[in-house]
Amino acid sequence: MELVLEKHIHSEDEMTEFAQNFASSLSDGAVVILNGNLGAGKTFIVKAIAKLWKIENVTSPTFALVNDYTGTKRVIHFDFYRVGEEQELYDIGFDEYLSDENAIKFIEWGELFPFILPNKRVELKIIIGDGDFRTITVFKYE
Ligand code: ADP
Ligand code: MG
Repeated sequence: MELVLEKHIHSEDEMTEFAQNFASSLSDGAVVILNGNLGAGKTFIVKAIAKLWKIENVTSPTFALVNDYTGTKRVIHFDFYRVGEEQELYDIGFDEYLSDENAIKFIEWGELFPFILPNKRVELKIIIGDGDFRTITVFKYE
């Protein structure tokens, strides 16, 4: 595991800028884990990145557990928050989704099911501060 960077974010605009820069570091097939409390900005980041790839209609997959979008890239967006047990993820086709070697996969609340996560992944940890302030740490796992 490698610490890539820690960044202080002071506004939604800065978060959008961070998300866009971060997106340019992602290679095809990347798996991105987004950890952080409710309201941290996990979905916000996925929306900002998806927009770069001409996907405008991103909504939180909290209840659906997974949303699947195609723009200039395919984006597969999971949210583990409401998942009770790992089997539910296999039932909705977790392995099949993960096996797409080109799609970018985002997993909100990935830390809830750590053993299901692929070894090769990038993790963002977002810590909520006062108002719009956030601290983001990026870790790379190979
Ligand atoms: P999560 O998916 O982590 O639960 P969301 O992305 O759905 O969180 O919501 C984040 C909320 O926080 C949004 O309402 C957004 O407008 C607000 N917000 C305030 N400041 C920021 C910031 N710096 N970055 C991202 N979102 C922010
Ligand atoms: Mg969310």
